[in-house]
Amino acid sequence: MVLIDGKKTSQDIKNEIAFRVAEIKAKEGKIPHLAAVLVGSDGASHTYVNAKVKACEEVGFKSTLVRLDADVSEEQLLKAVEDINNDADIDGLIVQLPLPKHISVDKVTNKIKPEKDVDGFTPANVGRMTLNWPAYVAATPYGIIELLKRYEIETAGKHCVVIGRSHIVGSPMSILMGRNGYPGNATVTLTHSKTQNLPEICRSADILIVAIGKPEFVTGDMVKPGAVVIDVGIHRVEDASKKSGFRLIGDVKFQEVAEKASAITPVPGGVGPMTIAALLYNTLQSAEKKVFG
Ligand code: NAD
Repeated sequence: MVLIDGKKTSQDIKNEIAFRVAEIKAKEGKIPHLAAVLVGSDGASHTYVNAKVKACEEVGFKSTLVRLDADVSEEQLLKAVEDINNDADIDGLIVQLPLPKHISVDKVTNKIKPEKDVDGFTPANVGRMTLNWPAYVAATPYGIIELLKRYEIETAGKHCVVIGRSHIVGSPMSILMGRNGYPGNATVTLTHSKTQNLPEICRSADILIVAIGKPEFVTGDMVKPGAVVIDVGIHRVEDASKKSGFRLIGDVKFQEVAEKASAITPVPGGVGPMTIAALLYNTLQSAEKKVFG
């Protein structure tokens, strides 16, 4: 069984990015610059944004964090996005989700200039990805694609089952695995909350990508011997033996599934770190005008 090490792979990618940043800085004096907009004081959102800012420092990017109060109006937030759209020094813009209920996520997403949409959430980038054009691909699916590539997982002609159809993980993942390219060329089944016979469908998967958001949902009896299993889920569970008082688990029951899988991502240290590396990579691509030209 191969443990697909997202921590090590993401570090490799960050080293490659840092190397490239030093090159373009020396040649053109340009430093890639990511801006993040954070609304409100949600603890998890703060943690995610801080991790992104820290990762920018690690690779030598500039970063700007725009903090807005939870009661900011939709109009004010749209104006903040517009200002970043128009700031020629900024290459990438992310708005940390979730947003307060009085703000339309769709309106805010649609306000982001596609050329700076390094989260790959705008209709323009989703459309470009679907057409197999150069695009900013959402960071989590992009991170998974990179793991499959770097671990040389064969995907052509394989049956890939994706659990979950969210716009940020399951849905783009299914499109990427079915596209004509590598990784891709798989026969894809996208499953969701209305799917019947899910365990049976999972047992026919050569590659199983799990983004259901339910702790340890996928058990050993749902996995074909030799399958490749990618666990996207992240959940905190209380654990008195840990200094922090909690530990992280995924959507997959790791021990029993690892016994059957040919390769598997752990939680933590699997897909999670790859998501940030993919966001940095998208920002570098933007600074180098590689996607939209
Ligand atoms: P989501 O809640 O938006 O989507 C869950 C999906 O699961 C839905 O599409 C739903 O139809 C499907 N589903 C629910 N019950 C089902 C059932 N019984 N059978 C089949 N499908 C069912 O979740 P999400 O945003 O895609 O995230 C999924 C998990 O991944 C969460 O644990 C989240 O925290 C984690 N996540 C991790 C990263 C990372 O960087 N590692 C990034 C994003 C999300």
